[in-house]
This record gives sequence, structure tokens and C-alpha cells, in this order.
Amino acid sequence: MKKVTLGNTGLSINPLIFGTLPLGPLQAGLTPEEGGRLIRHALEQGVNMLDTAELYQTYPHIRAALNGYKGEVLIVSKTHAPDGAQARAHVERGLRELGMERFDIVHLHGAKIADPFRERKEVLEELLKMKEEGKIAHVGLSSHYVSAIRKAADHPEIEVVHPLINMTGMGIIDGSAEEMAASIRACKEAGKGIYAMKALAGGNLIPQARQAIRYVLNVAGVDGVAIGMLSEAEIDANLALFHDNTADEETWKGLESRRRRLSIMANFCKGCGKCLDACASGALAVTDGKAQAAEDACILCGYCAASCPEFVIRVV
Ligand code: SF4
Ligand code: SF4
Repeated sequence: MKKVTLGNTGLSINPLIFGTLPLGPLQAGLTPEEGGRLIRHALEQGVNMLDTAELYQTYPHIRAALNGYKGEVLIVSKTHAPDGAQARAHVERGLRELGMERFDIVHLHGAKIADPFRERKEVLEELLKMKEEGKIAHVGLSSHYVSAIRKAADHPEIEVVHPLINMTGMGIIDGSAEEMAASIRACKEAGKGIYAMKALAGGNLIPQARQAIRYVLNVAGVDGVAIGMLSEAEIDANLALFHDNTADEETWKGLESRRRRLSIMANFCKGCGKCLDACASGALAVTDGKAQAAEDACILCGYCAASCPEFVIRVV
């Protein structure tokens, strides 16, 4: 199966990266065994990079998938920590949970941080320290900001970027898809490895999934795309699309007929507003004491779910 080199990292990856967010409690809520079986299927079909984050709570699913697996696997995590001490705690906890000594990549999880090099300077320094200690092989930046991805091009310590891009530009905070594509080109010229997120805008583009995935695969400079997948059929269909540009009509019709939405259990919402701070897309508001999401702005990332003390939000 075709592999690509992830910028100057030298890592050789299958361009289809398994995005594990939808497996966990913020979204589908699969058990570690159920999620692990899906990841394992993807690995056995040639996928070799798994994308997770402290926030996703999917380390148990990855651990289940890797139990007894002898093939090569690259693990990428992210820390949303506001300071260096918490970033270290996130990375070390992740390594403990996974039973590993080193992450292949750890991103500064900068979804809604306009200037991570200023606002998260200490986190970045701590990640680089952990790289020296051998706990991280490569440091990266994930972002929904055109400007942050553009800035990364001028920072040699960032070896990999994980930008949000899709054909409608939905979820990009400060610009269009074309502008994000220009930042991606700048990163490519600077030798960064680049894998994209939210090709399907968190599920909003599922009805046009084939077109949406092909769009991102054709953005100049993109080495790979992380896709959250919830069935073996979806994994196999994506592999065929990524590697042979083929798409079985019946399978994709089924995949494109699925619908996802944000569920907020209004009866149990206390109106505290904590979820508003977690939303990079500005999609949430508290009206009459209850949180509500604007469907046209929500990219179904589920990050608000992680911030709700009442556990009343989920992407379903
Ligand atoms: S409302 Fe929640 S799921 Fe939607 S974009 Fe905001 S954080 Fe993500
Ligand atoms: S964080 Fe939870 S309880 Fe608070 S407003 Fe948001 S949905 Fe309601």
C-alpha cells in the first residue's frame, strides 16, 4: 500500500490516518473493545498512524487495538494544557495509559488559540524538553486558525502541522479554505509534515463525503488526512478512495446517507456556560438558561462535551 513521507520527519505514513475522536465518549461512546476492533482492522489493512488527544479519551481503545499486534504503528497525541506542568502531565499520563515510552508526534492542541507561539509558549517549551528526554519524537501544532498554521512555517521546532481544512471552509476561524491552503503551502515549503483534519467538517459534509475527501487529498502539500471511522466498511471504502481513487457506489451511498448532530439534553443543562469556552467555532449560546448550538456553525467536534460538568452533550 502506498506510503508518503511526512515532511522532514522521515516518518513513512499511510495517507489515511485513523482519527480516533469519534470512537470515544465525546461521540459514539464505543467500548475500548469495540473501538479497538475497528482500529485493529484498519491497522491490518495497512493504516499505520493513529490520531488521538488527551481530550478524546481514546487511549483505552488504542491500547485494546494494539494488544498482541506486531506491526508498525505511529501514535500521535495532543495536549490542550494551558501551561507546561499540565502539558507534561498529559504526555506522561498518555504514555502510561498506552504502556509506551514515546509518542511519535505530540501536537500543541491549539484549535482555538490564535497565536500559540505567544499564548502557549511555555507549553511548547515543555514539549520540546520532553522531546530531548525522548518522550516525544516530533512536536507538532494542530489548529483551526489560518494565521497559526502560517506562523508555524517560520518555526523550525514545529515539524508537523495538523490544520483544519474542508471544501466549504467550515470551522476555519479566521479565513477561507483557500487561505488555509496557502498557509499549508507555506508549511510545505518549510519542510513540515502536514496531515489535515475535519475534511467532512465533523460530519456536516457526509452527504458529499467522496467529493469532500477528494478535495482535501488534492490540496497541495497535504500528506495525509485523519478520518474518524465507525465501521469496517467505512475503513475499507476510505482505503480504496485514498489509494485507488475508487468508490463503490452502493457502499458510499450508504455512508453518505448517515446523519450526525449535536445532542444537548436540555432537561439536565444547568446553563453554566462552561461549554461556550470550549467551542472554537462560536456555535454555542445559553438562551433562557439552556445551552443551544447553531447548526450552521457547529463542526460536530464534540469538544464542548468534554467541558460540560453535567455530561449532557454528545455528538450522536
Ligand atoms: S458546539 Fe460543540 S461540537 Fe459544535 S463546534 Fe462547538 S465545541 Fe464543537
Ligand atoms: S456546560 Fe453543560 S450544563 Fe453548562 S451550559 Fe453547557 S451544556 Fe449546559
